[in-house]
Amino acid sequence: MPPRPLIAALAAGLCLGASAFTPTLAQAAGDPTRDLLEALSNAPGPSGFEEPVRAIMVPALKPYGKLSYDGMGSVILETGTSGPKVMLDAHMDELGGMTRRITADGFVTMQMLGGWLDAALPGQRWIIIGAKGPVQAVSAMRDIHVIPADERGKPFDRRNLFLDVGASSAAEAAALGIEAGDPVVPDSKFVEMNIAGRYMGKAWDDRVGCAVIIEALQRLAKEGHPNHLFVVATTQEEIGLRGAQTASNLVQPDIGIAIEGGMAGDQPDTHPDETNARLGGGPDLFVYDASALPNRKFTALIRQTAKEIGVPVQLDLVSGYGDDSAMMQKSGGGAPTMNIGVPVRYMHVHNGIMDRKDFDETVDLVVAVIKRLDAKTVAQLRDFTPPGQ
Ligand SMILES: [Zn+2]
Repeated sequence: MPPRPLIAALAAGLCLGASAFTPTLAQAAGDPTRDLLEALSNAPGPSGFEEPVRAIMVPALKPYGKLSYDGMGSVILETGTSGPKVMLDAHMDELGGMTRRITADGFVTMQMLGGWLDAALPGQRWIIIGAKGPVQAVSAMRDIHVIPADERGKPFDRRNLFLDVGASSAAEAAALGIEAGDPVVPDSKFVEMNIAGRYMGKAWDDRVGCAVIIEALQRLAKEGHPNHLFVVATTQEEIGLRGAQTASNLVQPDIGIAIEGGMAGDQPDTHPDETNARLGGGPDLFVYDASALPNRKFTALIRQTAKEIGVPVQLDLVSGYGDDSAMMQKSGGGAPTMNIGVPVRYMHVHNGIMDRKDFDETVDLVVAVIKRLDAKTVAQLRDFTPPGQ
């Protein structure tokens, strides 16, 4: 679908009156990292509609090398011409939805994009990106005053989900510029919490990764690296790692690192075997998830590097989780990979919490690891010859 005028306006960074759409990157004052995280978190970009995020990534990456795109909209920045091909990846898309139909009464039903729990859907603010501009909406729910007592404890069923745009008829809703297939995003604004360094916002999965790859690239450009580095911002991860597949096919990395929202489990209602990571505990190395197992020698190198630079790491296993490293490791003849998460509490809901120290440490670790990935080291990591053979 060609970009609609609204999407183009968003990409150009125009303020459309809704706070969630207001770019703040250009106003960066004392702390550019904080402002980058705010801009990325606030940018509306569900799977397949990543234009506003791409509009932040491209100018941030462009000064450092040769920029290209895959056929699904992933952004590929190539820097360096010799040495092993290292792919550093984060995905631009976030959880969201698409409008399905307008009911006779002017309500709007929604197809979800990405892994939403039904419980996370009702009673939330959303923005529909319609042809005439952003449309504020709320996912309404029946009120306790009218629900019979024996139904009050029942879980919400997403088949009953609808968006209320304040309209009274189908014609009134349609006049707002809404039609089937419009992107819908959570309406949540970045805030700094009262505890220093804790940032609350939507889409930390994976805008936190987008910020890590930007800052790591900036540092590596200054400090130098011994490899052919591809910094890649992918599309449509939340609906099946799709952009990572096409981007990896193009890059064919010798080795890859995905940066993700890691799964912090330090909240009261979690089982101890759901995740090992906690907020503030440092970068989260995924030694298992449903999509990929990392290369063991690469894992050891990352742990050793972390130790030497004084960055604490957490080793995590998350069973209901997939990430872009799965596509990198299966491209070409296969590649050693690792998924590194910046721990996030509440990833697939309207408001998550991240920790600035975890972010800074992840950038430090990624920079230090990539600086070590010279031809000899990568050849050793890719060598499966048994000792003495
Ligand atoms: Zn993710």
